[in-house]
Amino acid sequence: MNTLRRTKIVVTLGPSLDNRDMLRRVIKAGADVFRANFSHGTVETHEQRISAVRDIAAELDKTAAILVDLQGPKIRVARFKNKKVTLNEGQTFILDPTLGDDDGTEASVSLDYKNLPHDVSAGDTLLLDDGRIVFNVERIDTHRIICKVMVGGELSNNKGINRLGGGLSAEALTDKDKADIKHAVRLEADYLAISFPRNASDVLEARSLLHAAGGNAGIIAKIERAEAVLNIEEIIKAADGIMVARGDLGVELGDAEIPGAQKHMIRMARMLNKPVITATQMLETMTYNAIPTRAEVSDVANAVLDGTDAVMLSQETAVGKYPDKAVAAMDRICLSAEKNAIRRISGHRNEVHFKYVDEAIAMATMYTANHLDIKAIIALTESGTTPLWMSRIRSGIPIYGLSRHGTTQRRMALYCGVYPIPFDVTDLDRRIINHSAVNELQKRGIINNGDLVIITKGDLIGIHGRTNAMKIVTVGNLPDINIT
Ligand code: PGA
Ligand code: MN
Repeated sequence: MNTLRRTKIVVTLGPSLDNRDMLRRVIKAGADVFRANFSHGTVETHEQRISAVRDIAAELDKTAAILVDLQGPKIRVARFKNKKVTLNEGQTFILDPTLGDDDGTEASVSLDYKNLPHDVSAGDTLLLDDGRIVFNVERIDTHRIICKVMVGGELSNNKGINRLGGGLSAEALTDKDKADIKHAVRLEADYLAISFPRNASDVLEARSLLHAAGGNAGIIAKIERAEAVLNIEEIIKAADGIMVARGDLGVELGDAEIPGAQKHMIRMARMLNKPVITATQMLETMTYNAIPTRAEVSDVANAVLDGTDAVMLSQETAVGKYPDKAVAAMDRICLSAEKNAIRRISGHRNEVHFKYVDEAIAMATMYTANHLDIKAIIALTESGTTPLWMSRIRSGIPIYGLSRHGTTQRRMALYCGVYPIPFDVTDLDRRIINHSAVNELQKRGIINNGDLVIITKGDLIGIHGRTNAMKIVTVGNLPDINIT
C-alpha cells in the first residue's frame, strides 16, 4: 500500500520561518498550506514571507497554498504605563474605556472595544490572556466594568478578553480586516480565514467584500465563538471550509467542551462537503522541545481519526525553535493514524440521495475504488469540486487532481487524500486524454504497468462542474485511442 500522507499540514509563517533554509526544510518536510497571520506584523512582512514560500515551492516543484488569516474583532485590554501589572486574587480591577489607551495601572485599564460595558452584566466571567486571568463582573458603573479578580497573575499590554459562554456582539469584520481583505486579493491568497464569525451573514459579508475587491479565495470560517458552534450548519454552508480554532473557542466554551465540539464540527463539515482544519496547541511544547509529548501525539492522531482534512501548527512554526521537526512530527503522526481502519473504511452516505451528476460520479468512483484493487484515482478537474467530493469519503486510495489552473491546484492542497498535479487537457486531442493522464502519473513514478486506475472527467473538456464519466483502465494496457 502507498505511504502518502492524506491529512494536510497547515503551518503558520513567522520569524522562525524567515530563515530560508528553515523554510525550505519545512516545505520539504511536507507543509501544504502556509498561514499568514494578520494579527501580527506588517503587510510588507507578510508579502515578503509569501513570496519566499512561492519561490521555494516552485524551486522544489511543490504546491503551496497561501491562507491569509484576518485578525478579526478580538477584544483586548489597552496598554499599561509600565507595559504590565500583577493582579492579585480578591482585588478589584476596573475595565474603563474612558481611560487613556496608555494609562493602565494596577487598578484599571482601558479597552480597544469601547462598547464592552454594554455587552456584559454583573455575574459574567471574563477570561483574559487565553484564560490565564479570570475576572468576575461585580457591576457596571455607567461606562466602567467593575471586576473582582478571581485568578490573578501578570497582565500585559493588549491581552485578549473573552466572556465565558460567548455572546459579545463585536462586529466580525473590523476596519483593519476590510483593508486586509484588499491586501489578501493583491497577494493572491488562495484561502481567506475569517476570525470570530457569529453566523452565516458574517461569512457572506466577508465574501461580498472579497468579491468587490476582485478576489475569489476560498473562505475559511474560524469557529472560535460559542454562538458559532450553535450556528455551525449555516456557517459551513456559507463558507468554503472551517477551522476548529481551539484557542479562543476553548476560552469561550470551557476547555473540556472542545473534544466533543471538535468531533461534531468535523462530522458536520464532511457531511456538508467542506474541508476542515483542526488548529491550535497541537504540538505546543515543540515550540521549545525537539519532540512532542505523548498527549500531543494523541491529539494530532485523534484529529486525523475524527476525519479532519488538515492539522495546523501555530507558534510551533511561527516563533518556535524546531519548525522543521514539528512538521516532520505531524507527518509521522498523521501517517500512522491513517493506517487505522476507521480512517480508511467508509460506511458513509449509504442512504444519501445525490443532487449532482459530478457528485454521483465522485461517489461511484470512491465506492469502486474501495472495493476493487485500485492504485490511484485520476480526476481531471477544472474547479476541484469532484476531488473535494471524493475526499469526503474515507479511503486509502490516493486521489490525483489534475488541473490546468494554479488556483485549483492550490485549493486542492487542503483536501485530505487529494494530490494536485498541473495538467492541461485543453490542447490535447480528446482521444488521447486518458493516455496522457496515465502517462503523466507514470512519468512521476506514481503508477506502474499493470495497475488499475480510475479516471474521471467530463464530455465537455475545460468546463467546470461537468464531470460525468468514470473509467477503469489498466496502466500499460490502454487502447491506442479512446473514444471517450
Ligand atoms: P488565532 O486563531 O491563532 O488567530 O487566535 C486560532 C484559535 O483561536 O485557535
Ligand atoms: Mn483565535
